[in-house]
Amino acid sequence: MSLDKTSVKNNFIRHIIDEDISNNKNAGRVATRFPPEPNGYLHIGHAKSIVLNFGLAQDYQGTCNLRFDDTNPHKENSEFVDAIKEDVHWLGYDWGERLYFASDYFEKLYQFAVELIEKGKAYVCDLDAEQTRLYRGTLTEPGKESPYRQRSIDENLDLFQRMRKGEFADGERVLRAKIDMASSNMNMRDPTLYRIRHGVVHHQTGISWCIYPMYDFTHPISDALENISHSLCTLEFADHRPLYDWILDNISIACHPQQIEFSRLNLQYTVVSKRKLTKLVEEKVVDGWDDPRMPTIAGLRRRGYTPAAIREFCHRIGITKVENSVEIEMLESAVRDDLNSNAMRRMVVLDPLKVIISNYPEDKTEQLQAANHPQNEAMGKREIYFSKVLYIDRSDFREQANKKYKRLITGGEVRLRNAYVIRCDTVIKDEQGEIVALHCSYDPDTLGKNPQGRKVRGVIHWVCATHCVDITVRLYDRLFTHPSPDDSDDDNLYRSRLNPDSLHILTTCVAEKSLLNSQSGEHFQFEREGYFCRDKDDQNTPVFNRTVTLRDTWAKIEKK
Ligand code: ATP
Ligand code: MG
Repeated sequence: MSLDKTSVKNNFIRHIIDEDISNNKNAGRVATRFPPEPNGYLHIGHAKSIVLNFGLAQDYQGTCNLRFDDTNPHKENSEFVDAIKEDVHWLGYDWGERLYFASDYFEKLYQFAVELIEKGKAYVCDLDAEQTRLYRGTLTEPGKESPYRQRSIDENLDLFQRMRKGEFADGERVLRAKIDMASSNMNMRDPTLYRIRHGVVHHQTGISWCIYPMYDFTHPISDALENISHSLCTLEFADHRPLYDWILDNISIACHPQQIEFSRLNLQYTVVSKRKLTKLVEEKVVDGWDDPRMPTIAGLRRRGYTPAAIREFCHRIGITKVENSVEIEMLESAVRDDLNSNAMRRMVVLDPLKVIISNYPEDKTEQLQAANHPQNEAMGKREIYFSKVLYIDRSDFREQANKKYKRLITGGEVRLRNAYVIRCDTVIKDEQGEIVALHCSYDPDTLGKNPQGRKVRGVIHWVCATHCVDITVRLYDRLFTHPSPDDSDDDNLYRSRLNPDSLHILTTCVAEKSLLNSQSGEHFQFEREGYFCRDKDDQNTPVFNRTVTLRDTWAKIEKK
């Protein structure tokens, strides 16, 4: 299966767009946007939205804007802006000239708010937060009108202007839309449009503003100002759609994008909420936003996920309106498929056991050729070295074992991958009885061929002791042991659901020498061990992060 070609291109949003095009709605134009709030790093859920929005623009020869939804200055900063841009680019998408900030529209938004006031459709309200909540009613009871609802237009204009000038304290007044306190939709019960926020420096607008527009007011107007045709968002915004439409219907703006909701991505054994991810970072449960156990784009990249694998995963999960939680195996199998085709093979011994080839000359070293990929000749070959002392993995030897054990035993034979057949003659132990080395003999006639009738137990990997490099390997596992770690309102419960074994660091691994020249971010299959990616921080010893095991071993473990 080739990557990126299997996309589920047959989703309900495409059907809507196809119909719009056939009706010449929006003059057949497709203009989407990806609107992150710069209050954290992007995660795999955002990737779903990015692949959808940028993908539609590509497929329909349309455009997709990157717009920072930056109306909440105390949580946002420019580190997040930069990280988001880097991640969208890395995923393979480009917004060209179309980079926007909702804060670019603050003046226009203010003018639209004034227009609503002038039309008697917005008012300044002095209720405090607690009173506002009480007046709002509940799902079963209608709300009560604010005593300030009947303020005159002039008074509202004056107060709103003075809010902007900074004459009132935080929380003293807000601007609200005048819609319907009895609406069955709570979002329509005179929602707040503007609040006062003193003393914060906005990363784009500095200290120019002390009133900030709410998301529900900003979002439809930003979409309309950018001439978006289809405004795609997640299902929790379905209840906000009447407000989205109300705002645009009540101001003087020509464009009225169509809001369409789809289900968010939830992924098992992890959390995809920026608030919760922030907590993991701030409480140092993980080592930063790009910790390879994080479901952030930066974490996945450092773990060794490729942009193609993430895009393919997003295509495979598809776009629907049904909330569900995707199995992490889906993500893992997408990266396995990509790396299986594209990662070069290397031999690395994670837990070295010395092997001395008794019948091999002391001072001889052979250079052997090994294919970089077993099925793809175009990926070329590399040189590996063979000499008297080698390492194999401790788990590849047992003194005795039955026939199911396809590795080396005392008196048994195995093939060393890309080299010769060896036989184990003697086991050397230390005083505690621990095996420290094996004395083996090799058969010089078995290089690249199996003499007829020769039965070896299996093929194992190895590394030459005189031409190797010491490396550190980090084995990652899921961060949580619970499939839905955040299915509770108790914000601290997640701690008891953390996987205590999510990281194992192996510091005594040996790798074939060619890995010394690899670049950070380069992907490999360590034969028989899994897929690995060279880390960015490895000044002294090369560090490799395990992206994923070769097969889905988790399923087996769980059944035990
Ligand atoms: P979070 O809950 O993680 O803070 P958010 O929706 O507040 O997410 P935004 O930065 O506002 O984060 O999201 C930008 C865009 O990405 C929005 O259009 C949002 O709908 C979409 N998005 C966010 N999370 C997911 C998800 N899990 N699945 C699909 N789309 C998502
Ligand atoms: Mg948001």
